Amino acid sequence: MYDVIIVGGGICGFSAAMYAGRLGLKTLVLEGKIVGGTITTTDVVENWPGIKRISGEDLALQVIEHAKEYEIETRDGWVNKVRFGGEEGCFTVSSDEDKFESKTIIFATGAEHGKHPAKGAAQSWKIGASITARSATDRSTRVGRLP
Ligand SMILES: Cc1cc2nc3c(=O)[nH]c(=O)nc-3n(C[C@H](O)[C@H](O)[C@H](O)COP(=O)(O)OP(=O)(O)OC[C@H]3O[C@@H](n4cnc5c(N)ncnc54)[C@H](O)[C@@H]3O)c2cc1C
Repeated sequence: MYDVIIVGGGICGFSAAMYAGRLGLKTLVLEGKIVGGTITTTDVVENWPGIKRISGEDLALQVIEHAKEYEIETRDGWVNKVRFGGEEGCFTVSSDEDKFESKTIIFATGAEHGKHPAKGAAQSWKIGASITARSATDRSTRVGRLP
């Protein structure tokens, strides 16, 4: 039985793990698809307080290393079911291969950025042209036209 299970191994998940670990809570991080999360896809981060310039991958590694200073556990599972109940009144968290029980859960599952449907947009990922924001009422697919 864990005190805390954190779903998602990005910056937020490992920040939460750092706090839980520091408090001596039995903590498990289920990391998901990308260890370190979305920031690992970024070449340069220049807005992290205290660090002027760092690659996203190195920043994630530093945060993970810091969290692991405390006695936390990590697994690469993908959570597909969470159930509350049972005699102990705890959460049962199911990943593809395992089941875990915990008194609390923190969801730090982040977000996946939308890709623009225009031809060539996938190739322009990382230089900014493929990242778009749309209002919830404007979900129409305008293939071939930038917004
Ligand atoms: C190209 C790019 C450049 C960026 N540049 C900057 C920058 O310079 N500065 C800045 O501050 N921010 C930047 N960002 C934003 C930054 O990357 C995000 O704000 C940050 O990574 C969010 O962290 P997170 O932990 O909330 O989520 P994420 O990093 O998205 O992590 C979520 C994790 O949860 C996992 N997960 C999801 N669902 C499940 C599940 N069911 N079970 C298990 N695991 C699951 C995912 O696999 C992932 O590992 C950039 C983003 C992009 C895409």
